[in-house]
Amino acid sequence: MASLKVEFATVRELEKKTSQIFVYGGSGLALGIVFVFIFPPIGIVIAALSLIAMLGGMIYVGMLGKEASHPLFCPYCSTKNDVYASRREFACDICHRHVLVNENGEAVMAEEIDLTPRHNQPK
Ligand SMILES: [Zn+2]
Repeated sequence: MASLKVEFATVRELEKKTSQIFVYGGSGLALGIVFVFIFPPIGIVIAALSLIAMLGGMIYVGMLGKEASHPLFCPYCSTKNDVYASRREFACDICHRHVLVNENGEAVMAEEIDLTPRHNQPK
């Protein structure tokens, strides 16, 4: 059974996780309906559990998503990420690189990028 802990730092990440609940819940429900025709007692249980999981997931994610978010721009690729206020770090939605939020609320690079000028290197 998958863990119920949802790890997310940005609004887009949360939306992605939410759609996973529907994918898993939806396929569970479909499986349950198929089983209703083969072996009704199991089919009904699977369908009911999938429905409960989807509803519970929606309520849980809705609760989590209530926190205020603010836009931060990725220092690597300049993508706007809607980051939840309490997060001190996040992975960029687009380039997936690790970004830190400093005490001024600014997005800073977590890893130093190689700034050595390429044209100075021996060939
Ligand atoms: Zn990025």
